Amino acid sequence: MYKSILVPVDILEEELTGNAIKHAVYLAKLSHAKMRLLHVLPISSAIINSYALGYPELKDKASVKAEEDLKKLADSLDLPVGQVSYSIAFGSPRDEIAVVASEVAADLIVIGSRRPNITTHLLGSNASGIVRYANTSVLVVR
Ligand code: ADP
Repeated sequence: MYKSILVPVDILEEELTGNAIKHAVYLAKLSHAKMRLLHVLPISSAIINSYALGYPELKDKASVKAEEDLKKLADSLDLPVGQVSYSIAFGSPRDEIAVVASEVAADLIVIGSRRPNITTHLLGSNASGIVRYANTSVLVVR
């Protein structure tokens, strides 16, 4: 049924991510879909400097850490190696998720609903932005 599942993860929030990822892995297995993990980082001054100096490949610590964490996460999933990929992007999660969704031709986006320690919002700000701006179906995991 699904061919390409995009799973934006806030890797700092393990508990929340874990729940959404369980659902995404289940669906990916059922439909032999490819799965892409994505973390969106704020545009930092280190990134801007490295571009300005002409070394876009120079990454700041946050990007390196994010990629390491995504790799660990991807490796830990119960899916064949070729079925999972990961990437990072910079900017607003809502916009970058829409861009990557079209790059990987996602037919489903799976996200968590909010940070687990916040009980006042039914839907976090990123979650609601993603739901409103996505062109594809979004599964919000609570
Ligand atoms: P809260 O506002 O309570 O922190 P969010 O709306 O930020 O909740 O988080 C809900 C979901 O949005 C997360 O589970 C994750 O799927 C996605 N998300 C949030 N921040 C990011 C990010 N920086 N990169 C990728 N996905 C994110």
